Amino acid sequence: MSGKLYVVGTPIGNLSDFSERGKEALEKADFIAAEDTRVTVKLLNHFGIKKEMVSYYEHNKRDKGEFIINRILKGESCALVSDAGMPAISDPGEELVRAAHEAGVTVESVPGPCALVTALAISGMPSGRFCFEGFLSVNKISRRKHLNELKDEKRTMIFYEAPHKLPATLKDMLAAFGDRRAALVRELTKIHETVFRTTLSGAAEYYEQNPPKGEFVLIIEGKQEEEEVCSLENAAELAKKLMNGGSSLSSAAKEAAEATGVKKSEIYKILLDSKKADDREK
Ligand code: SAM
Repeated sequence: MSGKLYVVGTPIGNLSDFSERGKEALEKADFIAAEDTRVTVKLLNHFGIKKEMVSYYEHNKRDKGEFIINRILKGESCALVSDAGMPAISDPGEELVRAAHEAGVTVESVPGPCALVTALAISGMPSGRFCFEGFLSVNKISRRKHLNELKDEKRTMIFYEAPHKLPATLKDMLAAFGDRRAALVRELTKIHETVFRTTLSGAAEYYEQNPPKGEFVLIIEGKQEEEEVCSLENAAELAKKLMNGGSSLSSAAKEAAEATGVKKSEIYKILLDSKKADDREK
């Protein structure tokens, strides 16, 4: 009988956030697939766990993935971890999880902190509908293309970003989206955890002067609905009121058009039709 693949979330800063189930999963598994064994060994040492580790990262994931799945199929259980947070979320793991499903291996969740969800929850930004965009490309052209594709996105957008790229990214966001509300959430669960609620221009200006340090999640407001266009009926109503106040039909149509953005000719036609109807009744 095959073993299981446990997908284990680990702390994103504060080690006290590691769950009992997370620790148990690492203790019980036959081996741990870790993004960086030098990082995970610190977590294991902190909790007094001794376990075989297999490195599983971006550049060895094909060969190591097969090796890991074969071991699981032979009956061993594996706990998958990344350096911090949930594996497979802007971290290695997605392919291994897929391969496990395809091989008929049971995948079990052992959830832990995830920076994007934690940042959104404390940002005070609209959280009803959001999209996660991960890291932007280091390539300037691809980064700008990606942002440009998002300019009409209405949902709150969440990005991960490295501090050294933050000033350039903020400027590109400002160029693509215009000045929007933004929350820059920094150093989650650590001593210097902060939520900087500002605008894209405010953030760009601030980080131009103050070099960013630490880990960041960027939460950017989605595109706001255009102001509702006034209906033709309401515009005609306004024009009729103007006529009752003494304006001529033509100037009432003109004034109502200017005030509402509705075409003057359309308002004019309605006023004319209703005048004709009134004249017939007399
Ligand atoms: N798998 C992780 C998760 O579940 O959130 C994300 C890993 S990704 C390689 C690392 C990025 O996540 C960082 O560059 C930063 O954008 C964000 N991040 C991770 N830990 C963070 C923290 N403590 N505070 C703020 N952002 C954090």
